[in-house]
Amino acid sequence: MSPEPAGSKPEMSGMQSSSEEQDWECAVCCELLYKPVVPPCGHPFCFWCAHRSMSYTSVSKCPLCRQEFTHLPRVSELLHNVLKSKFPGRYRERARETVEFEAEQEIESMQTDETDEVKEDEVGRENTFAAAETSPAASEEDEAFRCDNCGGRLFHPSVVSPCSHCLCGLCSGIYARPPKDEVPSCASPSAQPPLKQCPVCDCTLAAPPKVCHILNDYLVKKYGRAEDDLGLIRRPRTRSESGGAKPACGCCGGGAGDGEAEGGTLEGEGSGVGEARREGEGDINGEALLQDRIIRVLKSPCDTESQENFVHFGVGCDGCGVCPIVGRRYTCLECKERIGFDLCARCNESHVGPGRFNQQHRPEHKMELVEPKETLLHALLKNHPGYTAEYLIELLNGGE
Ligand SMILES: [Zn+2]
Ligand SMILES: [Zn+2]
Ligand SMILES: [Zn+2]
Ligand SMILES: [Zn+2]
Ligand SMILES: [Zn+2]
Ligand SMILES: [Zn+2]
Repeated sequence: MSPEPAGSKPEMSGMQSSSEEQDWECAVCCELLYKPVVPPCGHPFCFWCAHRSMSYTSVSKCPLCRQEFTHLPRVSELLHNVLKSKFPGRYRERARETVEFEAEQEIESMQTDETDEVKEDEVGRENTFAAAETSPAASEEDEAFRCDNCGGRLFHPSVVSPCSHCLCGLCSGIYARPPKDEVPSCASPSAQPPLKQCPVCDCTLAAPPKVCHILNDYLVKKYGRAEDDLGLIRRPRTRSESGGAKPACGCCGGGAGDGEAEGGTLEGEGSGVGEARREGEGDINGEALLQDRIIRVLKSPCDTESQENFVHFGVGCDGCGVCPIVGRRYTCLECKERIGFDLCARCNESHVGPGRFNQQHRPEHKMELVEPKETLLHALLKNHPGYTAEYLIELLNGGE
């Protein structure tokens, strides 16, 4: 995948939103979230808003909390279904706007059943979607809030990135059950190692996911603090995950989430990664978190000699969403979509299914290893190590 073609964002409709709807707004476009994706910091955005916020030359930052991330997440099915059932009329309207935008741009986001329905409805026809916002049956909605791993009710959930599976507090390791015969408040569960693999689909998690703020606020409003009812204990975080500086916040999910967000990534080139390695706690085979390794390379993308450290500026992986691709890159010779279809080395081994932009990629398509060729940007970065890729591109474009 490559950056989207020049163009604006999906057209906004001037509809007045209800206060409940405002709880589910995207912080970038200030509209009802549509096809929500959740980066590891836990702040959900519309798919296109997240995509536009990402850097294709360097480390991306959450538009809200500035936490660094490197992978465009998948659309969260749970949030998508919740929004669709809570605000059927408005959500359909958002779908229609997005389908129009995508038709204009000749690019498609990941498909959901909703998009297909809207497409079948003939885009642009007189708006017939202003159906009354009816609340779904309570039990039906309760059924939606299930952990993708254990099937139990969600509490302090994490929406896992980039695969988008939703995990409850226990499955995500944020909470522990108190040891038997002990008063919960006196129990001290072992520290929580960073979650490195999704327990549902086994994919590698580039960074451990944090509590999804919007979903959590909603669940607390709806059910109260279920973790209290269950007598669960919040586990302390390991140093490598809390950035080494901040003590673990034992308070409620929201506040703790905000604090965690700031310290979520390791600062400094090399040193942070080394620290995580030395600690070794929860690391698979002593390896640092995937995201930390990628961030380290992206902050100094001058190594054009080694295949493993080569940065493919402007190209993201359609499998895991890493952006830009670091290391070996494979491109599909048969996908016809304008945006192309690319995979990182890891995904080239295992990825099945369509791309991040609904490319109709098939397993039998021929993939080719892309020779790492040094670009002007690589050369400039080598000669001006103090400058960022963004700044140099701005200079090249004649910006101030
Ligand atoms: Zn948005
Ligand atoms: Zn954030
Ligand atoms: Zn669970
Ligand atoms: Zn998963
Ligand atoms: Zn990948
Ligand atoms: Zn293909």
